[in-house]
Amino acid sequence: MIEKLGFNFENTYASLPEIMATKISPTTVKKPELVILNQTLANSLGLDFSKVSDNQSAEILSGNKLIKGSIPLAQAYCGHQFGSFVMLGDGRAILLGEHLDSKKQRWDIQLKGSGKTPYSRGGDGRAALSPMLREYIISEAIHFMNIPTTRSLAVVKTGEDVLRETLQQGAVLTRIASSHLRVGTFQYIASKQDITTLKTLVNYSIERHYPELFQAQNKAIALFNSVMKRQIKLIVNWMRVSFIHGVMNTDNMSISGESIDYGPCAFMDHYDAKTVFSSIDHYGRYAFGSQPIIGQWNLARFLESLFPLLDRNEKKAEKIANVLIKKYENLFAEEYHQMMKNKLGMISDEDQDKNMMSDLFKMMHKNQADYNNTFRYLINGKFPQGKLLNDPDFIIWEAQWKKRLSKNQNSEDAYQLMMKHNPVFIPRNHKVEQALAAADKGDMSKFLSLYEVITKPYVENADLEEYAKPAPASDRVYKTYCGT
Ligand code: AMP
Ligand code: MG
Repeated sequence: MIEKLGFNFENTYASLPEIMATKISPTTVKKPELVILNQTLANSLGLDFSKVSDNQSAEILSGNKLIKGSIPLAQAYCGHQFGSFVMLGDGRAILLGEHLDSKKQRWDIQLKGSGKTPYSRGGDGRAALSPMLREYIISEAIHFMNIPTTRSLAVVKTGEDVLRETLQQGAVLTRIASSHLRVGTFQYIASKQDITTLKTLVNYSIERHYPELFQAQNKAIALFNSVMKRQIKLIVNWMRVSFIHGVMNTDNMSISGESIDYGPCAFMDHYDAKTVFSSIDHYGRYAFGSQPIIGQWNLARFLESLFPLLDRNEKKAEKIANVLIKKYENLFAEEYHQMMKNKLGMISDEDQDKNMMSDLFKMMHKNQADYNNTFRYLINGKFPQGKLLNDPDFIIWEAQWKKRLSKNQNSEDAYQLMMKHNPVFIPRNHKVEQALAAADKGDMSKFLSLYEVITKPYVENADLEEYAKPAPASDRVYKTYCGT
């Protein structure tokens, strides 16, 4: 029956040098039960779950039954977690293999919450239902906002309890990624001082994500530059939609440029660059406005792991590294500026643009204005709540902004640009929590309604107004948890 689903597996990761992974099967679970299956994603991968029963799907998506051709493994990696270097690896995830879709695109199929591995470090190897559904909805929301991300194919309950702060229902998430190569994967090989494997990893990464670099004179440098560009784009995109990743450890930074490892992430309502939701981020290391600098810090760690390949001469390698990482600042500033121009419908380049942007942020901060709704207001003139509109400075700013837009050649283009870059609907924190609380009691209706909303983030819909509003004041203090 599994053959009918359409999986077409290869296992290139399994054939990499042995130190990179441990071959291990998922631990079977007691009573797998399908909670949600992403049919649209399945179809786009060329998979057809309608040919098997929900029970059979659950057997496969829990890891109880292995897909034909799968060589399951846990990947080894290291990482800087909140600045400290640690040995990690997939402690509760197992890569089943790489599925090739009809266009021969390669997708990692990974189960998260699939049991202990040699990298579990005292953890139980399991995941709870609520955090897995959280990853499901947030990763899909990020996808529909046109931001690169891993995706979520399914969540299956295991029929077993997991002990966190309280007893919770166990679950397994099926994650789809263009790969699970992390900055931490490179750090791991570098820590072994295994230059041959490091070269293999560079080649492998280029083959999977940057085939255009094969001819590069120095592949490590070329790879670094490309990863840096994709990471800059990614972080700028997060900031465009007010997303806070929450745990930007180097093991949670993907070489592909996809958002990965959704833990205590959340979207910011009212604008404050210092916003932190994560219960474990005591010093605000991963606050909204710190994401750009952390991106550079992580990339510096990536560069360090590539050090032996930059130049044989250590001094020269150091010089090269310094020049490469310094480029981040201008590249980021340019990308960010362009993103803000898009949000504000600015097409031509005018001297006043930068000041207009920073003035707006100051007023948003002072008035605790909702980030996404402020930009949507500039498009549609509707502002669900808040005092920004009564701020005399904002009234002047808005008049200036309108004058500024008249410098664009075509006002319709500005409107289209703003519509494309400013979401109406983000997964609002209180809506996510309500959906998860109901799902935990077996009622998926709120989750499914929220899912519908996040699939069309840029389309105005008067019937869904309540999803566009920030949390009421009573719900404002928001903490998110890793749920590990
Ligand atoms: P994360 O914060 O999800 O990126 O995970 C950080 C590290 O902790 C990774 O190596 C995970 O595999 C590991 N980890 C997280 N939760 C568990 C768990 N319940 N059991 C074992 N390992 C875990
Ligand atoms: Mg992680």
